[in-house]
Amino acid sequence: MASQEGTESRAVTEQDFDQSLRPANFDEFVGQKGVVANLRLAAEAARQRKEPLDHVLLSGPPGHGKTSLAQLLAQEMGSSLHTASAPALSRPKDLVGTLTALERGDILFLDEAHRLPPIVEEYLYPAMEDAFVDIALDQGPHGRILHLALQPFTLVAATTREGLLSAPFRERFGLRERLETYPPADLVKILERSARILDTSLEPDAARILADRARGTPRVANRYLRRVRDLAQVEGDGQVTHAVAEEGLHRLGVDAHGLESLDRKCLKAIARSEGGPVGLKALAAALDEDVRTLEEVVEPYLLRQGWIERTPRGRLLTAASWQLLGLEAPSEPDSPGLFDLGQ
Ligand code: ADP
Repeated sequence: MASQEGTESRAVTEQDFDQSLRPANFDEFVGQKGVVANLRLAAEAARQRKEPLDHVLLSGPPGHGKTSLAQLLAQEMGSSLHTASAPALSRPKDLVGTLTALERGDILFLDEAHRLPPIVEEYLYPAMEDAFVDIALDQGPHGRILHLALQPFTLVAATTREGLLSAPFRERFGLRERLETYPPADLVKILERSARILDTSLEPDAARILADRARGTPRVANRYLRRVRDLAQVEGDGQVTHAVAEEGLHRLGVDAHGLESLDRKCLKAIARSEGGPVGLKALAAALDEDVRTLEEVVEPYLLRQGWIERTPRGRLLTAASWQLLGLEAPSEPDSPGLFDLGQ
C-alpha cells in the first residue's frame, strides 16, 4: 500500500515536471522541423478559413513531444483542449460525455490511440466524419437508437505503435506525422532551455553528456537533468558540471553507452538463452517486466544502437553485446563447418 502511494505521488511530480517544461509556443518546440512546419501550416490555413483543424495522428516513442504538440495546436487554433486516454474508454458510452462537451473547433487529445477497443473506434468514425454519434438505448434488432449531433471538432490522436491502428481509423486522419528520435544537438537545446526554466547552471560539457545518453528522448533528458541538479545542489555548489553529470548518471545506473539497468538485464537474459532468438513475451516474463515497456522503450533503443537484432524468430544478441557483457558468444551449431563445405 505504502509503495503504491509512493508510486502515485511520484507520478504526479513527473507529470508536473513535464508540464512545467513544455514548450510555450511552436518556436520553443525544438527539432522535428518537418512535422512542426506541416502542423503550423495546416493550423494557419484552418484558422484563416475559420474551420476546425483536420484530424491529426501523431506517432512516435514515449516522451517525444506528442502531448506538447497537441497543446500547441490548441493554442495556435485558439481552442480548448480536452484529453482522454484510450485504455480508459472501454465502452462507447464512456466517450459520449467527452464528445458532447466539445465545442466547435475544440481539440480532443486521445492518448495511446492504439489501445482503443475496436467497438469504441468504430463509434468514433461518424463523430470524426459527420459530427454525430448513434447511441443504442436498447439491445436487440428493434432497439431504439438516439442520434446525437456533435460540434465539429479535431481529434489529435497520439500513438507509440502506429502499426497497430486499423487502416480505416488511420485513414480518417488528414494529417499523419511521425516524430523521430532526437539527435543529441536537439537534446542539448532542450536541456539548456530546461536548465534556464529550472534556474540551474548547466555547463555545455554536462549538457552534452546528458544529451548523448538520453536515448534520443526529451523526457529522458529532462529527467536526467532533474536528478543531476539535485546532486549539484546537495553535494556540490549548485553547478551542473561535467563531473556532476557523470556522477549523477552513474548513480542512476546509466552507463557510458546510455544503457540503463533494465537494458542490461535484458541483454543478460538473452545471453542466458545462448544469445537468442528470444521472443519479447518470454523476455518480459523472464524479467518480470511489462511487455509494453520492453516493446516501446527498451527494444527500440537496443535495436537502434546495435545491441540486438530482430529476426522473425525473436531477438538476438550482437557481437558488440557479447563484448559489452564480457562473455563469449556460443559457436553457431547451424553454420556449416569448414569440412562440411562442398561435401
Ligand atoms: P509524449 O506525449 O510524446 O510522451 P510529451 O509531449 O509529454 O511527450 O513530452 C515530454 C517532455 O519532453 C515534456 O516536458 C516536453 O516539454 C519535453 N519535450 C518533448 N519534445 C520536446 C521538444 N521538441 N522541444 C522541447 N521540449 C520537448
